[in-house]
Amino acid sequence: MPNPTSTPILLWVRQTLRLQHNAALYAALQTGQPVVPVVLHSPTASGRFSMGAASRWWFHHSVQSLANSYAQRHIQLTLKQTDNAAETLLQLAKETGSIKLIYDICHEPEALSQASDVEKTLTNAGIEVEGIHTQTLYHPDDWANKEGKPYQVYTPFWKHTSGNRQVVHPPDSTQPTYHTLDNYPSSDALEDWQLLPTLDWDKGFYKHWQPGEDGAWKQFNHFLNTGIATYNDDRNKPAVAGVSKISPHLHFGDISVQALWHAVYSNAKKQRGQNARLTDDETTYLKEITWREFAAQLLRAFPNTPTENLKPAFNAYPWADDDESNERLKRWQQGQTGIPIVDAGMRELWHTGWMHNRVRMIVGSLLIKNCRIHWQHGAEWFWDTLVDADLASNTMGWQWVAGSGADASPYFRIFNPVTQGKRFDPDGEYVRHWVPELANVPSKFIHNPWEAPPLVLLDAGVTLGDTYPHPMVDLAESRHTALAGYDAVKATKASV
Ligand SMILES: Cc1cc2nc3c(=O)[nH]c(=O)nc-3n(C[C@H](O)[C@H](O)[C@H](O)COP(=O)(O)OP(=O)(O)OC[C@H]3O[C@@H](n4cnc5c(N)ncnc54)[C@H](O)[C@@H]3O)c2cc1C
Repeated sequence: MPNPTSTPILLWVRQTLRLQHNAALYAALQTGQPVVPVVLHSPTASGRFSMGAASRWWFHHSVQSLANSYAQRHIQLTLKQTDNAAETLLQLAKETGSIKLIYDICHEPEALSQASDVEKTLTNAGIEVEGIHTQTLYHPDDWANKEGKPYQVYTPFWKHTSGNRQVVHPPDSTQPTYHTLDNYPSSDALEDWQLLPTLDWDKGFYKHWQPGEDGAWKQFNHFLNTGIATYNDDRNKPAVAGVSKISPHLHFGDISVQALWHAVYSNAKKQRGQNARLTDDETTYLKEITWREFAAQLLRAFPNTPTENLKPAFNAYPWADDDESNERLKRWQQGQTGIPIVDAGMRELWHTGWMHNRVRMIVGSLLIKNCRIHWQHGAEWFWDTLVDADLASNTMGWQWVAGSGADASPYFRIFNPVTQGKRFDPDGEYVRHWVPELANVPSKFIHNPWEAPPLVLLDAGVTLGDTYPHPMVDLAESRHTALAGYDAVKATKASV
């Protein structure tokens, strides 16, 4: 019988790549036993939703940062590539003599089934397994309404969670003593996982991001100091640094969403005294954070939604699927649609791995509605290119734009990218930055250069069809066709 105080605890680290405010790590440390933290890389385990290229980039650097933090405490972060998490963890338990495994719970369907395999295999081998909730503000048991059903409308969800539930402050997992092990198991070298792209497509990422825990807090504290006070006004302006850009850090668990929630309150008190109430800007920010929560509960309740419409009536929509639409999809991906705000967004995505929320809605609307290309093609591209790619939020976002999801934008709402551009990027600053070939077009025509008089374009050095494309769709005509397509959805008489 091994001595329970000297046998190590295996800590399977999934999407909680941090030391601070980590309830799973804290539970492991509280035992007083040495902890063996392990990160597994299962390149194909999630099938179609295995990590995309931009996520792999982030994962590489975030794991590196975590390994460094552990190394400072003389603890090895063990890395193993495997397509069979249960077997690998069982082997590690045997090798280290562990009799307990703790892991952080992930809510995606594949992750839940992977965890359930691990639980079965290790429990059968006499190893205790404990899953700990770290990823969301509230426990999934708190997500249901009074009838025990999932919320499909955001506002009651917000009222239910913000009114009835306390956000638990996560424990300070950097304080307890870290016991080390004499012999750590063999580990892969991170480079062997080959997570980084072979092309230098990611070079812009380094300018924009610092993955890992330190980077997350730097980013978030900067936002608390400079952005949250004007969040309501600025959060829809893509040219302004008005949002927190914390999404990839939240996805990988570089930062605790619960700690972040409490940081908004303590920042308010620090700035305005102990009795400070939240401003409208701060409350709006917490509401946005709660959209992430809403998405997580939807995916948990409707695990098929990454590949199926939440509202089945939308199965009747006549999507375009021909050579012309394939060509349009390519142009959309490359930021060559000829519609400036869309091209700016798609290029921002390509160069930085992120796109402003307002622009995500605009580019999505153009693809789904004006081009009648299935939302899943857009979701797939985002999945590969976003550093914050998150199955719950991406699925909800795309189904929202399509009108087929929960609390979705009504199907008849088709964003006009020109009007949106003029409203949210009035001087065209965002477009000028990402579409430099239009930099000299006057503001009046920056979002609709095809309407500019020839002399204006000549002056700006723009030749449509040569230096910048003609719009790939006629916005008015395609709007009409999209609406006609929705007649098929309405005709099913199912709820739309
Ligand atoms: C088509 C589409 C696809 C999307 N795909 C993703 C995705 O894969 N991953 C992802 O994290 N977000 C996704 N979003 C939501 C949103 O665009 C991003 O969360 C946001 O732009 C991230 O930037 P930020 O951290 O600066 O946001 P902030 O405005 O600073 O908001 C703070 C946090 O609140 C949460 N949040 C805000 N808005 C939303 C929202 N609409 N849905 C869910 N959470 C939200 C995020 O965690 C975000 O980091 C998508 C939206 C659309 C329209």
